Amino acid sequence: MQREGSDPQALTKQDRFCPRCDLPVELDWSNAPQVLQHMATHIRHDRGLVATFESPCGFCLCPHPQCVFWTPRNPCAGHGGPQVDLKKSTGCERARGFKYKAASTSKPNSPSTNVPITCPLCADGSPAVWKYNFPQHLAHVHPRQDPARFAHLSKTSSAEEYGVKASWESRHVVRRTTHNAKAPLQLSVDHRCVLPTM
Ligand SMILES: [Zn+2]
Ligand SMILES: [Zn+2]
Ligand SMILES: [Zn+2]
Repeated sequence: MQREGSDPQALTKQDRFCPRCDLPVELDWSNAPQVLQHMATHIRHDRGLVATFESPCGFCLCPHPQCVFWTPRNPCAGHGGPQVDLKKSTGCERARGFKYKAASTSKPNSPSTNVPITCPLCADGSPAVWKYNFPQHLAHVHPRQDPARFAHLSKTSSAEEYGVKASWESRHVVRRTTHNAKAPLQLSVDHRCVLPTM
């Protein structure tokens, strides 16, 4: 499911760092759930990001509509359940294949459930919306709809919220114990969007 050109080995040293963290946080880009989890902590708790960007991408934090993901409305029989069609998805250089069901299930070591979901109000063939961004999508794209009717689509458990917050607060602690603190944080020159710092 990995896309051409998205081989984690092909990433430069700088590309492997989170594009948003003020201190260098190296991510394992071959581990999509870990990347989704880290980015989810930004989407939930990075006030500078939330104040600046609308609907950031769950893989790279670039603002909507930079990265476009597709979730087939009727996944092929046999696969069952929702999934992301990465071959059709465009714009995100950081996207990786991942197991949808696992990524959309909150677990103690991976609490975030932020995955692209299908908006039931958008026309067939419309791009997916990241779960954490769905309330924003609803307010901006379907302002006449009652948010309460669709709250279940972006619902998270208190355990998930607690876990994501704890993960956000410990993001630098983890880095210091596992990575070289001398590694500089630089965005690659060809990174497609510029993320403001806090
Ligand atoms: Zn980060
Ligand atoms: Zn992206
Ligand atoms: Zn919609």
